[in-house]
Amino acid sequence: MPSVNIAGQNLGVYIQVPFCQSKCSYCNFSTGVFPREIFEPYVDAVCREIAEHEELYRRAGLAAWQQQPRFAAETIYLGGGTPSLLEPGDLARLLDAVRQAFGNAAAEITLEADPETVSVEKARAWRSAGFNRISLGVQSFADTELKAVGRRHRRADIFTAIERLEAAGLGNVSFDLIAGLPHQTAETWQSSLGELLRLKPRHVSIYLLELDEGSRLGREALGGGRRYSVPALPDDDQAASFYETACARLAAHGYEHYEISNWALPGFRSRHNLKYWRREPYLGFGAGAHSFDGGERWANTHDPVVYAAAMLDAHLVLDERETVDRGQALEEELFLGLRQLEGIELAPIERRYQVNLDERVRPLVDEGLIEMNEGRVRLAPSRIAVSNEVFVRLLD
Ligand code: SF4
Repeated sequence: MPSVNIAGQNLGVYIQVPFCQSKCSYCNFSTGVFPREIFEPYVDAVCREIAEHEELYRRAGLAAWQQQPRFAAETIYLGGGTPSLLEPGDLARLLDAVRQAFGNAAAEITLEADPETVSVEKARAWRSAGFNRISLGVQSFADTELKAVGRRHRRADIFTAIERLEAAGLGNVSFDLIAGLPHQTAETWQSSLGELLRLKPRHVSIYLLELDEGSRLGREALGGGRRYSVPALPDDDQAASFYETACARLAAHGYEHYEISNWALPGFRSRHNLKYWRREPYLGFGAGAHSFDGGERWANTHDPVVYAAAMLDAHLVLDERETVDRGQALEEELFLGLRQLEGIELAPIERRYQVNLDERVRPLVDEGLIEMNEGRVRLAPSRIAVSNEVFVRLLD
């Protein structure tokens, strides 16, 4: 049974396109370089999964899903990988499949694109297929940094991409930047922020570079090696100061900092990503895509070849599946809720889970880690950069 009643909520639909032109050194996603010949059969498989999802879930025994009312898609998000590598006709087919299965009413339809893949023709085709938001993988405006991590685009490609998108009527663009790239200095970071503010995208996501065993750069750095520009990596304090500089400059230019890694001009918050932080239901289609129906989470196999073969045989291969119990759901409410900088109201959560959170929250308020105001708690602004430490304490 779902541990939280989600009846009446609308759905986020995510489609995973796990193909890239080359593998960036810092990338720890389940994506890879595949021959173009598999793109079209892969899209066929995803269209089939979308069209037949109810039957596929029934066969996989995803019981909670069967008890939900029929959802309408409120947001659609094509991410990857590099979905902009697909032919525009294939992208349009994917959107048509979603509309057939979940209605025509999606208000926000996002495509992730890398700057060097944005041609005049593609931008026009994306707009006419129905995309109304582009998430552009900018990462940095410094060519030395882009080159060091194996990105395909250069600074000039970003400006060209923006011109083409705007000319096609796709002015609602989000930029991703990474703080902590090799060769990044206070000067180059300020310069990247300056270029971004000149272009003034509606939305900005800034991520701190993660170094873990899942990427070539991470493995090299953790193993004490020097390849992939490891010696040119800024240290943690420098990366944290880049983040703080970004907070100050974006605020000064009218951006609302609404989630730890996300800023938006008024009216342009990501409706799709808000669903994740609010624990609203979402269904993911494609290899490696994750889903959550309020009671269970599951993830498709991350291997696109295995995934496409399973779809031909009309069954799902799942890499992960878990039932979210009430304790876990409560922790997620707190953790995901506090990632949103406006914070959360405690009383409805206490009612829903029949708990008293005062004992948990009060010590953190007394220490100045979180703030409480009329029953609403939020991260103290001075602690946003070290939010992980606050979350560890809260969920202890
Ligand atoms: S383009 Fe994105 S998904 Fe692909 S390798 Fe680079 S970081 Fe990873």
